Amino acid sequence: MLADEPISMLDVSIRIGILNLMLRLKEEHDIAFLFVTHDLASARYVADDILVMYAGQIVERGPVERVLEAPLHPYTRLLLAAVPDPTKKLRAERIEARRGRASAAVDPPEGCRFVTRCPLAIDVCSRVTPQLVEARRAQSARCHVTAPSTT
Ligand code: SF4
Repeated sequence: MLADEPISMLDVSIRIGILNLMLRLKEEHDIAFLFVTHDLASARYVADDILVMYAGQIVERGPVERVLEAPLHPYTRLLLAAVPDPTKKLRAERIEARRGRASAAVDPPEGCRFVTRCPLAIDVCSRVTPQLVEARRAQSARCHVTAPSTT
């Protein structure tokens, strides 16, 4: 079942009820959900696996706990750094995005789509499009620096 931002417009007091309903449907009826969200805390609460998208591409994928505890891709790290609650374990080290324009998702130029904003960008990033590489067991990222291709 596709659940596209199912709780984003809801009052906080009823969000947890919807998330628990999804978990119950999953357990009792074996229903798989594709849960689309910008809210990493709710993703962590309901998901087994996570795909992080940037400019129309998957830039990181893996088990949700592993990805949110130890993200590989610089974009995932920036998302985590933006989580406002300082008591949450979701928070990663403080890193800043560069102030470049976001890449177009349609007909983008060669190279990494995140290069104009990436704090780790190196020369090759604007010339060669990175592939999704399994850099840790079951955890993949699309990044020349943190998940380099071995070929
Ligand atoms: S490939 Fe380069 S620009 Fe893209 S995320 Fe990795 S380091 Fe940043």
